Amino acid sequence: MLEYDLAIVGGGLVGGSLASALSGSGLRVLVVEAVPTGAAHQPSYDERVIALSWGSRRIFEAIGLWSAMAPDAEPIRQVHVSDRGHCAFTRINQSDGDVGSLGYVVPARVIGQAIGVQLADAPEIELLSPARLLDHRVTPGQVELHIDGAAGPLTVRTRLLVAADGGDSAVRQRLDLKMDETRYDQDALITTVSVDRPRPGVAFERFTESGPLALLPMTEGRYSVVWTCQRDDTDRLLALTDETFLKALQERFGYRLGRFTQAAPRRAYPLMLRLTRNPVQPRVVLIGNAAHTLHPVAGQGFNLGLRDVAALAGVVTQCARAGADLGGPAALADYRAWRGRDQFATARLTDLLARVFINPWPPLRLARGAAMLGVDLIPPARRRLAQRFMGVSGRLPRLACGVPLEKADV
Ligand SMILES: Cc1cc2nc3c(=O)[nH]c(=O)nc-3n(C[C@H](O)[C@H](O)[C@H](O)COP(=O)(O)OP(=O)(O)OC[C@H]3O[C@@H](n4cnc5c(N)ncnc54)[C@H](O)[C@@H]3O)c2cc1C
Repeated sequence: MLEYDLAIVGGGLVGGSLASALSGSGLRVLVVEAVPTGAAHQPSYDERVIALSWGSRRIFEAIGLWSAMAPDAEPIRQVHVSDRGHCAFTRINQSDGDVGSLGYVVPARVIGQAIGVQLADAPEIELLSPARLLDHRVTPGQVELHIDGAAGPLTVRTRLLVAADGGDSAVRQRLDLKMDETRYDQDALITTVSVDRPRPGVAFERFTESGPLALLPMTEGRYSVVWTCQRDDTDRLLALTDETFLKALQERFGYRLGRFTQAAPRRAYPLMLRLTRNPVQPRVVLIGNAAHTLHPVAGQGFNLGLRDVAALAGVVTQCARAGADLGGPAALADYRAWRGRDQFATARLTDLLARVFINPWPPLRLARGAAMLGVDLIPPARRRLAQRFMGVSGRLPRLACGVPLEKADV
């Protein structure tokens, strides 16, 4: 029977990043991905555009992926936050964060391509795709995986199973893990638009009665739109002609970027919060959306998942170097100590933003206007907020400091 040090189920943004981080580590890694490599319908590397924090750039640099995505990455130098129908606003500038830029806007597809190229060159990473994990069984000292691969059923053994199989994680369902779930009854409608007065480097977050509307700067003066809408309005917005859609967007956003001139096809994603209460189980760890699916209001979901990757890659390579069991209780407790607080705090903060900024209750609107002005006028408040969203606050694992992993020598 084939044996691996570690098996990752799900080769999407988070699972693929973990495999990349471990390439060259000396560990034998298996990746099981349901969708064929390079397929246009890969659900993780689709049309969405990711606002990467500065901290995520550092992780990608340490993994060796950043240079491949840098030509398509548009820096964010200012975030402009406003409330529709009110004059209050906040600006967070790159100078508030003490680093080159607050973050970068990168198409998910570009991240997927960079991961694909690196994995194709990594002989110790085996990618089974298309293949599905059917079942797993924890036995003393290892996990047995039953896989449905392109060449038929297959059983392999590993010391640690990492579930990076997304928000509907089959591993989480099989383990019957408890999670806190909120369905917002909203969808995020995404598209890319062109404008006639682009402001390179400026990202906009505008809170409206139906939810936040984000415009993220892209290369060539384009903007990625993430329009949060009430579920019963989604079909109408998807069915509009491009011209009427652009008019509706203009009415909602205003003329800070001039006129909207062109729109790419639209697509909608259901929004929810799912926070797995204990994503660390004997010989199994859930990471990324499998552990925490967030509202995209603050662009934190993938950044949080990438911090899971940085911590887990650090823990398993360190264990392997020390000759310890990388799926054993000590390693898992170490990983949990790194990640528990950040996962909980980021999920709660995102949920709070999603709720507070759509609540039309007048005293709350007044309070959030005052809070926005306060943040705009008080530099230490802006600084704290900037550092939180840049993923550079708190205790950081090695990769998140931009330092490559040491080889595991196994
Ligand atoms: C509209 C929108 C905008 C967003 N914007 C941002 C942003 O600006 N910044 C940010 O940080 N985050 C953002 N996010 C969040 C980000 O997209 C997610 O956090 C990220 O996609 C999570 O990646 P993942 O790999 O954990 O899960 P997924 O992307 O869901 O990938 C899961 C992978 O597992 C595979 N899989 C599933 N089941 C199996 C199985 N049984 N066997 C084998 N393989 C399997 C799937 O094929 C897929 O490849 C946004 C999300 C949305 C919806």
